[in-house]
Amino acid sequence: MLTIINLPPELFAKFCTFLSPTDLLSLSQVCRKFRGYLCAPNSSTTQQIWKESRLQFIPKEDMPPPEGMNEEKYVLLLMTERGCQICKKNKECKIYWEFEVRCCKSCFTVNTISQDIIKTKYSQEFLDIIPYRHHVGFFDNEILYWEKQIDLIYSKYCNLPKENLQSWLNDRKHIFNSIMEYSKQRISKDKADTPYVPSLNFWPPISMLEPVELPSLSFIPQFIPIRRNNTSIQSPDEPKRNQFIKSEKKKSTIKFHDNYTSSHMKGKNFKNKFVHRYG
Ligand SMILES: [Zn+2]
Repeated sequence: MLTIINLPPELFAKFCTFLSPTDLLSLSQVCRKFRGYLCAPNSSTTQQIWKESRLQFIPKEDMPPPEGMNEEKYVLLLMTERGCQICKKNKECKIYWEFEVRCCKSCFTVNTISQDIIKTKYSQEFLDIIPYRHHVGFFDNEILYWEKQIDLIYSKYCNLPKENLQSWLNDRKHIFNSIMEYSKQRISKDKADTPYVPSLNFWPPISMLEPVELPSLSFIPQFIPIRRNNTSIQSPDEPKRNQFIKSEKKKSTIKFHDNYTSSHMKGKNFKNKFVHRYG
């Protein structure tokens, strides 16, 4: 009897074309046989299964994977809804293409190291082949490396025979350029895909604000005649109010003048004036 367990590989592959990346991942965890079908980095059929699932179920992710990354790893990396790949707890995470990892902010901080700290430990020819990320801080910018990536590449670097070093460095430089270029393209793509939302550092959000009742503007008509000339509408007591305002202005001008004079008297001439008055 034909069941899903003993499906021939070609039928299994056909069956997989209807499955989302999440379903493929679940299926790969059912048994060794399925795992063998779905986790085979060197099998073109396996890679095709993951690619078709990606294009069908995550159509916006139509960019090919970075050079050297297989389709399965690529699709798993794109599954941001699964959260941080490191701590597996935090759902808020981001893909760092330079390091080919998806992680939360805390894991990023714990696993990265600043160039300022390691630049004396490693040679420049080695650092030139290590992918990095520009981190824009509040006060300054820094270059960050993924520590495990450094350790992995450094162990290969140290164990190389001298005669193979240059060709290995050339290969690594090619990979480095490819990764950095891919990361740049990804940043542009993310910017293009993200709808523009103006940054309003404002709390509480406008939507949460209670409507404010404005005070009554009934007092405004009392002031309008004052601003106008005598030709405008005037109430019977208008001349009195104008006089009152003028006298107030005059008074305030005199007061200002007094303040100005007294403050200047306390300046460099203060002593002289004091001497003039009191000898
Ligand atoms: Zn994490």
